[in-house]
Amino acid sequence: MHELSIVQALIEEVQKQVEAAGCQGRVVKLRLQIGRFSGVAVEAFRFAFEMTRPGTPLADAELEIEEPAAQCVCQTCARCSPVEELVLACPYCGSPEIRLEGGQDLILESIELEDATSLEATSCEKPETPGAEKSGGTDADRTPLPPEGRTDRNPPPN
Ligand SMILES: [Zn+2]
Repeated sequence: MHELSIVQALIEEVQKQVEAAGCQGRVVKLRLQIGRFSGVAVEAFRFAFEMTRPGTPLADAELEIEEPAAQCVCQTCARCSPVEELVLACPYCGSPEIRLEGGQDLILESIELEDATSLEATSCEKPETPGAEKSGGTDADRTPLPPEGRTDRNPPPN
């Protein structure tokens, strides 16, 4: 599972960027693009992320993954068409002279820090006291929230 090494590299990269920004807050949200042809399986990636993140600033981060489609660019009819899976011929004219563009990268889109908001309000006040480390492992009563906001179904007119 090469997703694990990708996740490790990603987490390192995020930590680097957070440090470079001069922040130390935890990451609350991470947005990524994983192209459909990047060779990264999103499921495996999420799994590897869950395994890797404890103890990192990303421990509680929400992971948002977009999977952008690629473009099939036809050399014969010059049309572009978005493709969701690998194609061997142009969907319009059937020519095999195609090039696939995009969808091959894993892009770190944005990192949202917990710090960012408190950075404006107070001047980077750290709630934790040095020396007194929290003993972890007592947050078992945290339950994941069900996804909401998808209840926009209209009742049928009658
Ligand atoms: Zn074509």
